[in-house]
Parts: sequence; structure tokens; C-alpha cells
Amino acid sequence: MAHVSTSAREEIGADLVIIGAGIVGAMCAHYAIASGLRTIVIDRNSVASGTTGAGEGNIMVSDKSPGPELDLALISRELWFEVGARVGDSFELVAKGGVSVARSNPKPLHDLAESQSRVGVDAREVDQIALSKLEPFISPEIKYGVHYPQDAQCQPMLAAARILQDFQRRGGKVIARQEVLEIEESDGALSIRTPDMIFRTTHIINAAGTWAGEIAKRAGSDLPIMPRRGFILVTAPLPQYVFHKVYDSDYVDNVASSDADLQTSTVIEGTKSGTILIGASRERVGYDKSMSVPVIKKLARQATSLFPVLKDAQLLRVYNGFRPYSPDHLPVIGPDSKIKGLYHCAGHEGAGIGLSAASGKLIAELIQGVKPLIDPTPFSPARFQLAGVR
Ligand SMILES: Cc1cc2nc3c(=O)[nH]c(=O)nc-3n(C[C@H](O)[C@H](O)[C@H](O)COP(=O)(O)OP(=O)(O)OC[C@H]3O[C@@H](n4cnc5c(N)ncnc54)[C@H](O)[C@@H]3O)c2cc1C
Repeated sequence: MAHVSTSAREEIGADLVIIGAGIVGAMCAHYAIASGLRTIVIDRNSVASGTTGAGEGNIMVSDKSPGPELDLALISRELWFEVGARVGDSFELVAKGGVSVARSNPKPLHDLAESQSRVGVDAREVDQIALSKLEPFISPEIKYGVHYPQDAQCQPMLAAARILQDFQRRGGKVIARQEVLEIEESDGALSIRTPDMIFRTTHIINAAGTWAGEIAKRAGSDLPIMPRRGFILVTAPLPQYVFHKVYDSDYVDNVASSDADLQTSTVIEGTKSGTILIGASRERVGYDKSMSVPVIKKLARQATSLFPVLKDAQLLRVYNGFRPYSPDHLPVIGPDSKIKGLYHCAGHEGAGIGLSAASGKLIAELIQGVKPLIDPTPFSPARFQLAGVR
């Protein structure tokens, strides 16, 4: 590793430095400070300036099949409400529920709901009449759905900001506009070099989201996290036409797919301010921020076929963001296999808001060496680092 120059840089000591002030870094900070670690969060920009600023804010259990991610999501959903109570619930956290609908063959959705019910998900099948009571404006052509009352929503940017404000009130520090340039390990300690500072610490959490692979590289290790672009359409404020998060059941397959090509499925939800958010697209196009009219048109067409009432809605804006994608779709949570003291908490793809609470708690427990809330093995960075996956 290259030598770290100490010239003209302010030196700061801490027990733990968290890289990244997105929702994952914020939740890591929330649990680290509770465990008594002197903790600093640093970001090259500002709070929620990465993917957290592009996320829709769903805290979902319904879009996951039984397995480690769903186990983590169920715990995380409960923790979100604890964090909300601790911080003062000032980030629009609400358990509004989700509704997944089948446009044609209901069997795959029925089977998924049944398997989810067996592991603790509240999944209630609904016919057309029940569906129209839940969602009066949904197309009458939809005959079958599953209602998931546990699905919740928050405003992710506000959540990251409020959680980090609370963290600072409890003695933590947040330092913005310091890009991590290099991480060096020597004599059991770690140094992080940014343009103006050097942080000396024993523990680092890499919570740099889509850019976590680059942080691993700057520390002399590696992590296969890639960007997966997604668009969101935002309507002008409307009367309340959509009461839950409503989505096509093929969304679950799109989430789980490793295909690099464009995939779209309808995901619609209202917000407190009256705007309606329309997604979801997924494609691996690197960090290309440009707009794609075909994707936007496709999302709009799919949305109006599910909610015909939206056909005259005006779009306020369209934006995109980059989900932090790992090759097996599971987040990477745990110690680096090569660098002692470096931990990763990243790669949550399209579920980073929802999974952030349990991920932050889990990583704080791993650092403290206490019994973790869930078996961390499926999330370990070692699954890629030792197998050499790229
Ligand atoms: C369109 C879209 C919709 C989504 N909807 C949902 C949803 O409804 N529910 C859900 O759960 N998830 C959703 N997601 C996914 C979710 O937004 C992400 O998984 C989550 O925001 C990742 O959070 P993070 O804190 O890991 O990363 P980020 O928010 O990206 O934070 C990483 C931070 O690291 C900083 N950083 C990077 N490199 C450096 C460096 N070298 N030095 C210092 N700082 C650095 C960045 O500036 C950034 O602030 C969506 C994503 C997209 C794109």
C-alpha cells in the first residue's frame, strides 16, 4: 500500500470511522454510538447525497422470498419503528402496507404468499372486491392480489438526516466534504486520508453504498459492488388515488434477476405531500445519469394501465439513481477478509432503506463481539473475497 503523507492535515482520533452518510451509514452510526464507541461519520459530499437521495423509502418484507434477506428484512422492519421512536419519528415513517397484484396467472403470487406466511410475513390474499376496497382507483381488470400490512414507508433523506442529528446529540461527529482517498493499516491501527484530514482509528465501516468497491480498493482489498440504475417518475400533487404501495407481482422476479438488460415492472405509491411515485426500472449501464425517454414512457404506460386515473397526471420530475448491486443480491455485512478492523456494510441494492436498521445493528454487534441478531454468514464479505468472485 502507498505511504500516507501526514503533511498539513488535521489529525483526528476515534474508535470507529464510518465512511458514507447515506441511510446505511446513519443506521450504523445510530447503533455504534449506543454501544459506547467514539464514532465519526465522514462523507465526500453531504448527508444522503448518494443513492439514499434517490430511493423511494419503502421498508418492505413483501418483495422477498424466504431466506436470509427476508429474515433480515423482518427484523429490520421492527427496528425501524424503534429507531423512529428514539429519534422522534420525524421522517414520515408509516406502516401503510403493500399490495402485490397479478395481472394474469395468480398462482406464482399465491405460492409466494404462502411460503412467506410460513416464515412470519402477514400475507392476506384478496379478490377483486376486497382489492377495490383497499385501492378504489385500481383497474377493475385486476382480479387477484395479496395485501401485506407490514410493509412500511419513510422519507429516506429525512430519515438519514434526523438519525445523524440524533447521533450528533449523543456525542457523535459528522464530517462532510471529505473524500476518502486512501486507507492504510499499520501496527493494528488504521489511518484514513482525506484531502484535509487524517483519521486514526481501530475500526472502519465501509458504508459507501454503490462506491463501496472503490473504498475496499483504496484500502488494498476488493468487493464486487456494481451500480444498477433505476428511474422514478414523480407526479404533481394529486388527490389520494393510491393508498398502499401497489406493485405488479413480476417485480419480485425483476429484483432477483441478475440480467444486465432493462427490466421494468409497475410500482406505484402516494406520498404525504400528494405526489405519486412511479417505478421501477432496473438496468446495468454503469454510472450513466442520462435520461431515457423509452424507459420513462414504459413506466408511465404500465402505471396508467394499473391506475387508469393517472392517465392525465402531470409529471413534476423524473430522476434516476444507482442501486448498490452485489452478484448474489445479498448485502455485504461483516469484516473484510484481508484488512483487520475494516468492516463492510453495503450492497443492499433496491432494499437498502428497508434493510439499513438491521444491517447497522448487526455490524455494531460484530464489532463489539456480542451475539448477533441474526446469523451473519450469508452476508459475509468472505463469500466473494475468498471465492475470488468479480
Ligand atoms: C430508484 C431507486 C429506488 C429505490 N427505492 C428503494 C425503496 O423503496 N426501498 C429501499 O429499501 N431501497 C430503495 N432503493 C435502494 C436504496 O436507495 C439503497 O439501497 C440505499 O439508499 C443505499 O444506501 P447506502 O447508505 O448504502 O448508500 P448511499 O446512500 O449511496 O450512501 C453512500 C455514501 O457514501 C459516500 N461516499 C462514496 N464514496 C466515498 C468516498 N470515497 N469518500 C467519502 N464518502 C464517500 C457517498 O457520497 C454517499 O453519500 C432505491 C434505489 C433507487 C435507485
